Amino acid sequence: MRDKLRRRYQVQKEVTRNGYFEGEFAQSELHRLQEFLHPEDSAPSGRDVAVSFEFVRSEFDVPMIVGKLKTSLDLECQRCLGRLEMPMELEFQLMIDADDEMVRASSIDTLYSDDGFIDVFEVIEDELILAIPLVALHENIECNEYWRVAASAPETADRENPFAVLKQLKTTD
Ligand SMILES: [Zn+2]
Repeated sequence: MRDKLRRRYQVQKEVTRNGYFEGEFAQSELHRLQEFLHPEDSAPSGRDVAVSFEFVRSEFDVPMIVGKLKTSLDLECQRCLGRLEMPMELEFQLMIDADDEMVRASSIDTLYSDDGFIDVFEVIEDELILAIPLVALHENIECNEYWRVAASAPETADRENPFAVLKQLKTTD
């Protein structure tokens, strides 16, 4: 059964009923994420985040949230400072309130609830922030004309060297 998306969930209740949720919400709800996005040039209508997830029990009988999300982030290209649309499709699974022993025994990360409640928007925001590349760049390396000219100057000098070596080899023959 699919239920309408909310922000906060009572973990034990949802695990017991194997709660499954899906829906969309505005990316602008994720306040911490905003500082990673392009300062002015974001999509005019605002972007949504599509998400679906369920509450299950792990092999250690620990509550888990397992889901996936899809959105696009408007990052700032570090080469031309223009907008760079980066599609994001992520899967996530987190144990909830696992004790230290389980944390050590499992490769799955643990999320700690707030008095038995979790905020799914916080979970999604963390996943997105972790997935943002340290340096975002357009695929087209010529997106910044000035950068291209500056970067190609030493390259030309390097490229001449192998030819010079070849010439030397030829003359010694
Ligand atoms: Zn660029």
